[in-house]
Amino acid sequence: MITKSQLLDWIRRYATLIAENANFLTELDAAIGDADHGVNMDRFAEVLQRLPETAQLDCGGLFKMVGMTLLSKVGGVSGPLYGTLFIRLAAASALKEELSVAELEVALSSGLAGIQQRGSAQVGEKTLVDALSPALIALRSALAAELDDCQALNAAAAGAERGMLSTIPLQATKGRASYLGPRSIGHQDPGATSTWLLIRALAETVCQ
Ligand code: ADP
Ligand code: MG
Repeated sequence: MITKSQLLDWIRRYATLIAENANFLTELDAAIGDADHGVNMDRFAEVLQRLPETAQLDCGGLFKMVGMTLLSKVGGVSGPLYGTLFIRLAAASALKEELSVAELEVALSSGLAGIQQRGSAQVGEKTLVDALSPALIALRSALAAELDDCQALNAAAAGAERGMLSTIPLQATKGRASYLGPRSIGHQDPGATSTWLLIRALAETVCQ
């Protein structure tokens, strides 16, 4: 099981990884977007300020605060998309004090569905969907193979990384990068990169 305290660690670790990689995310966005993805995602730090408010809340309350904060504080298209992901995680973990990895997989899959409803991107359009979708496919396979929690989440992180790298040869057909047409080919997608960091942070938290 993943306890609420581990979920808190996940959120803190993600904020740290984002801060460490903010310049890299912005450089990636400079190549095919408007050079603000690192700045946008670094607003994730706002979530840390509000963690004390969630001390008495269940996992759903924690994720809801994260989602609402991202919706209101993170600019760009990534704010509403990551906000939607966490609001979906909140709905799937209402009244729970801990989550199994299987429950987390269901919650993240609902998050992916929410992102796709909101942004209508499919796999192969060079967006963060290209990292999240293979992460969840790998996680489901790992659960079916009865790997332990750490192994399963490492498999998910490896799936996200493969998916992130798969965006390099793709031409963007959604989001700002799509304005570049074929000139978007040959660059790694910034949002797929921040999504890899999210899943990597989760694996590192559970494996430590
Ligand atoms: P903006 O494009 O508004 O400047 P960001 O730079 O913060 O916002 O985020 C850009 C990232 O958002 C892209 O790299 C891509 O991964 C993701 N993205 C853009 N449009 C979509 C979409 N329709 N669905 C999913 N992800 C998207
Ligand atoms: Mg941008």
